[in-house]
Amino acid sequence: MHRSRRTPTPPGTSIRTRIRSRAAARRTGVRVAAAAAGLALVGGMAATAPAASASPAAASAPPPAAARTQQVEYFTPQGHPRHTTVPVATPKSLLSAHRARSAAELAADGTVTSVIRNGPTDKKVDVVIIGDGYTLAQQKDFHADAKAKWAQVSAVEPYASNRSLFNVWTVDAVSNQSGVSGDPSKGVVKDTALDARFWCDDIERLLCVDTGKVESYASKAPDADLVLVLGNSAKYGGAGYNGITSSVGYDGIATASSDHRDSAQVAVHETGHSLGKLADEYVYDTNGTYSGPEPAAPNVTKMSVAEMKAKKAKWYRYLGQNSPDGGKVGAFEGGGYYPRGLNRPTDNSIMRTLGREFNLPGRQAMIDGFHRHTGR
Ligand SMILES: [Zn+2]
Repeated sequence: MHRSRRTPTPPGTSIRTRIRSRAAARRTGVRVAAAAAGLALVGGMAATAPAASASPAAASAPPPAAARTQQVEYFTPQGHPRHTTVPVATPKSLLSAHRARSAAELAADGTVTSVIRNGPTDKKVDVVIIGDGYTLAQQKDFHADAKAKWAQVSAVEPYASNRSLFNVWTVDAVSNQSGVSGDPSKGVVKDTALDARFWCDDIERLLCVDTGKVESYASKAPDADLVLVLGNSAKYGGAGYNGITSSVGYDGIATASSDHRDSAQVAVHETGHSLGKLADEYVYDTNGTYSGPEPAAPNVTKMSVAEMKAKKAKWYRYLGQNSPDGGKVGAFEGGGYYPRGLNRPTDNSIMRTLGREFNLPGRQAMIDGFHRHTGR
């Protein structure tokens, strides 16, 4: 398949800069031909652009030129991550399917429920789960799915040992139809509250949503530090919108299908970015050698083991220790999308392949991230 693919911005680039237009990427990017695959990758520093639709008013107005596309991360069936850019706008075929909701549906829409409460919102990480493709009659199903998905996410360390740091909220989004677009097949169009859809950007497992609508629902919860959208579906899929900085306070949105167990892994990986501020530890072979500044992310570095030790920098504390994802912590060549010029702490953590554990530095970064929201 011949497709246009763009590399994400390098690690350490601020989240806000990651939303950019294809045009901006073309202007500022470096084009690298991938002869074998016949695909073009555009890398380099992104142009600074405003975050996508930050308010309901902005959501209804045409997005500014710089925010017509969003960067999303998705995963191959083998659990390997990929990135692409998708239009912010919902496809017309979905928009034209919308019918007005009944008074009963509107009355129930936006209901906020406390699922797990461990303390005040300013002392806890507040997880907000929003469902799409659940009708009024299915909101109980949504609540059950939200609990089940959180149980799967929080079974992964370091969530499992830190469950008491989290509050979990659901916000009911009442859809006119059950299920989401693109399920079971590409041409299926459903009238849903968040316009969740598989086959986004022609990729079956890429589950896109209207991120402006997500924000309007997330803003109904008392606090939103982490936002997870569940599409009512048994298909494998999900997405990470890592470029979004919301006015509500959360960074990034993760989507996952409700009834496919592996989809929780997508969400866990995405929280590595949003909460842990971790870089991806995978590479694009065509990217060559990294030549930028030392990345800000805690799990990629230009330094060798000796340099980290000498400077007491990055993951020097963990060097030589056994890591939960296997092997000992060291400096493995390749990471942050570059096969050379950047090192990662271990061979194959969840920031490189789904279904894996966070490595030791990754676990610590996650715990640090949790505590950015606990006021400690
Ligand atoms: Zn990632």
